Amino acid sequence: MKRLIILGAPGSGKGSQCKWITKDYNVPHISTGDIFRKNISEGTELGKKAKEYMDKGALVPDELVIDLLTSRLDEPDCVENGFLLDGFPRTLSQAEALSNYLTSKGIQIDRVINIDVDDEEIMSRALNRRTCSNPECKEIYNMRDNPPKVEGICDKCGAPLFIRDDDNEETVANRLRVYHEQTEPLIKYYEELGVLRTVKGQQEFADTVALVKEAI
Ligand code: AMP
Repeated sequence: MKRLIILGAPGSGKGSQCKWITKDYNVPHISTGDIFRKNISEGTELGKKAKEYMDKGALVPDELVIDLLTSRLDEPDCVENGFLLDGFPRTLSQAEALSNYLTSKGIQIDRVINIDVDDEEIMSRALNRRTCSNPECKEIYNMRDNPPKVEGICDKCGAPLFIRDDDNEETVANRLRVYHEQTEPLIKYYEELGVLRTVKGQQEFADTVALVKEAI
């Protein structure tokens, strides 16, 4: 049973790390970005509201995120196995809401992993990112470092790859600005709670995996 949070700028490679962490530690991977994207593709009210913000690289307002997240944490898989939070919390008020929720349940976060990658590298990665369109797969490729064998097609499942609406230069620059202003203060917040470990994002995926393992 582990209760984990992964922090890092958007595009730092959090999503790729989450894929093995969720398997190795048998914890549900909870990505608020994925929950919003699912709502957008299903055309729900929440999806419509969230899309306006997401397309600009802005944060979805806290009130749309916090209840969504805490009700997800109330589900039996999280209660029994713990969880891995990816993309939440993103603001100090979300972090405080999460702390209040955890305290009310008498539980705590075991570890916060902060993946550290500089902005220039993040921009280059985001512009080269391709994502598998199959919601069961969601494999991530990078045209620079890790291209698919056949252009535009997922190696794993054969579904078409796509470029996320928010992976364009203007939106990424805005996301990075938002990250530095609103999310970066969480590093200090969790450092003070004594649960934070920072891992320098490495060029090679496997090297980052080894560092994250050590940190958990
Ligand atoms: P991600 O897939 O984590 O990069 O999230 C994509 C977008 O979803 C973000 O740029 C935000 O617009 C929105 N989003 C995801 N998680 C949150 C959150 N915890 N708070 C506010 N907005 C969020």
